[in-house]
Amino acid sequence: MKKVKLLIAAIMIAIISAAALLAACLSKSEARLTAARVIAGKGMMKLVESSMEERPKVALTFDDGPSRKYTPELLDGLKEKGIHATFFLMGKNIEGNEELVKRIQEEGHLIGNHTYNHVQLNKISAALAKEEIEKTSNEIYKITGEYPTYLRPPFGAWRKDLELSVTMFPVMWDVDTLDWESKNVTSVLHIVENNVEDGSIILMHDGYKTSVEAALKVVDMLTEEGYDFVTVDKLMVP
Ligand SMILES: [Zn+2]
Repeated sequence: MKKVKLLIAAIMIAIISAAALLAACLSKSEARLTAARVIAGKGMMKLVESSMEERPKVALTFDDGPSRKYTPELLDGLKEKGIHATFFLMGKNIEGNEELVKRIQEEGHLIGNHTYNHVQLNKISAALAKEEIEKTSNEIYKITGEYPTYLRPPFGAWRKDLELSVTMFPVMWDVDTLDWESKNVTSVLHIVENNVEDGSIILMHDGYKTSVEAALKVVDMLTEEGYDFVTVDKLMVP
């Protein structure tokens, strides 16, 4: 009888130990599972974060064109690099360059107004200023079928009272490459490198060979630094 009791006790101990072992195993695997979930969750968060992470943006803008001599070369380079820019056209440079204006539009660039005769808007009458702008917008519309929304005032001289008569948005700049003055590729690159930041609008002119060369190098340099190139409408909310 004593032996039977001992045997029962031994079996009970064995069962309890086995149960304890099983419980330990389960909780360990549960813990492992939980850890795996946490890691997977963190990974997912990172993925979401990185896809939402905004790359810095910059806009290249070209004034005074189109230039029959240099704009095509610039367009070739931008196309090759898959970059879109903004071209502020002068009305008087459009005649005879209609195909070029069409090409600027077709290749996905944004076309803006730079007045007809490159006038300083705050030094002429409001009526004349309005005419300078509207004449240019009409020329652009005749070719592209779209009225431009953005305007780059020559010399950066805007006049507030014009906002009542022309529904256009002036676009200034924060990086002045002085490309027209230096005609020096290295100098342009230095100015951009030292002044560019997220949201910058870079001022250039497509009427010089050195500007075309510099612009394409600016594209390479800033792309390498992680910038995305956009047209100015992506940086401004009208
Ligand atoms: Zn200009």
